[in-house]
Amino acid sequence: MLAARNVTVRYGRVQALTRTSVEVEPGELVVLLGPNGAGKTTMLRVLSGLRRPSEGSVRLDGTDATGRPAEHFAANGVGHIPEGRGIFPRLTVEQNLLVGLYTRRRERVTRRTEVDAVLESFPALKERLDSRAGVLSGGEQQMLALARALIARPKLLLVDEPSHGLAPAIAAHLFDLFDQLRAEGLGILVVEQHAALALRGADRAYVLQKGTITYEGSPSPLVRNRKRLVDVYLGRSP
Ligand code: ATP
Repeated sequence: MLAARNVTVRYGRVQALTRTSVEVEPGELVVLLGPNGAGKTTMLRVLSGLRRPSEGSVRLDGTDATGRPAEHFAANGVGHIPEGRGIFPRLTVEQNLLVGLYTRRRERVTRRTEVDAVLESFPALKERLDSRAGVLSGGEQQMLALARALIARPKLLLVDEPSHGLAPAIAAHLFDLFDQLRAEGLGILVVEQHAALALRGADRAYVLQKGTITYEGSPSPLVRNRKRLVDVYLGRSP
């Protein structure tokens, strides 16, 4: 399990998170909603070791991981797909996937086998292995970012705004993949602007506003009362 407990993060005078707690376990899909600037990206960065909290702690698999570097989180089963996907546009699809294998460099893995295995779920990428990642469509790039994260065999995956810039059908397909991965035991914490899409299959939801959790629990009340979700929590159209 991965958990941030009472975490505060400051960027100079800006307090992005104030004593905020969020957790995700293997086998659950958790959605983190909130308006722009609420601190969602900052929370994901804390949970993958990219940002050290000013106060509070981070626990990974029952041990204190506060202040450990991102490599520690990556090596211990935490995958992070950042906002903008973070793929390397000048590398080929295959080279991007091999970057994802880096954390498993001490295992005796055969690259070809691992690449073939992960591509089972991404048939469109199979045909583009030698293409530069930068020429792929937005949807294909998002699939590549997901495949690159999965090849590292994470137990928990943090995903920032996956549907951003994608056509609705592709975004829906992505969330179907999250459903499948959750059923296979992966824990997924997803930050998403498209609330309706993300809440549909979620096990739990958090709403973050101005660095503080204002809702935590079942997604059902948020799904049932879309107007309240928008007016009270998000302050904009979902
Ligand atoms: P969005 O939905 O717009 O991506 P968010 O909910 O992910 O927003 P964060 O990106 O975590 O929010 O930002 C939270 C607050 O911290 C914002 O006020 C933002 O301007 C500020 N902030 C984020 N990163 C930095 C930084 N590197 N330096 C200074 N302030 C920052």
